[in-house]
Amino acid sequence: MSTNLIYTASGLDRQATRRTDADWLDTQENRADKRVIPVWRDKNLVDSIDTAPLPLMPSGDVGNRLLNAADTVLFLGLIDDAPVFGADLSSLMEEDLEILLGPNPTFVDLRATGWLLPRNEAAILAYARGLAYWHRSNGFCGRCGSPTKPQQGGHVRKCTSETCGRESYPRTDPAVIMLVVDDGVGGQGPRCLLGRNLRWDFAMYSTLAGFVEPGESLEEAVAREVFEEANLSVTDVTYMASQPWPFPASLMLGYRATATSTEISIDNEELADARWFSPEEVARFGEWGADIPNDMPRLPRRDSIARWLVETWLKDVSV
Ligand SMILES: [Zn+2]
Repeated sequence: MSTNLIYTASGLDRQATRRTDADWLDTQENRADKRVIPVWRDKNLVDSIDTAPLPLMPSGDVGNRLLNAADTVLFLGLIDDAPVFGADLSSLMEEDLEILLGPNPTFVDLRATGWLLPRNEAAILAYARGLAYWHRSNGFCGRCGSPTKPQQGGHVRKCTSETCGRESYPRTDPAVIMLVVDDGVGGQGPRCLLGRNLRWDFAMYSTLAGFVEPGESLEEAVAREVFEEANLSVTDVTYMASQPWPFPASLMLGYRATATSTEISIDNEELADARWFSPEEVARFGEWGADIPNDMPRLPRRDSIARWLVETWLKDVSV
């Protein structure tokens, strides 16, 4: 099923089997047509902050200077046979960035800007951001505490202790996100459960979500989270789609689940509100924009799998 979810479909050929070939990687790094994705302290480089920003992916001399200045060089893959690299510049000061990129380079948080970018380029930026974050968080060996060094184009870090030498690989944290539905057997028609998080100071209603714990299947994680957050039991836990969510390091695994009970009791430490909504009620929600009042209910932004899960359900119940 094609989802059109943002941060997917980068178009990159990752060339995972060539990352161990140091000569091949060197050749790619020296190519004039390589593109470089700068990452600075979890932010990505764009041409401007307006309604249609475009990512900047320098090549040529600027690309060379970025790779030379990088804390870590990340080989991301090939696009149309041209290599694409990430350059983590996080240790540079702002004035160093200006020397490399010109005055006032615009680094933005993809979490706020990603939904405005072309989809395939947003996916490449997300990939670079997520991999750079992993490197910055894994500078020391988790077993012996010695410094680690990147290898294989930034897809491995190896402990520098000769007696240890442990290799670690980039990780992504699985999180389940689920739309709980009531199929309306009680006669009131189909409804879906949406909750408002305590931390949001605006009336956004979204699906429930949570991290998968060790020793737990994805279906068990869905059932546990729904029970913890809303005190509801579910059945028919069905996988729908997934979305990389590198904020900072998650993979969202989207599910739909059917409630076997309907009496909601919310977890007051996490949620301010959770309710059953009919399709008609969801249709009356507001849309994101400068003019929307804070107390106007709205769904999450269009770049999220939460929104996609709700809209997919709305289509299903309308036929
Ligand atoms: Zn070690």
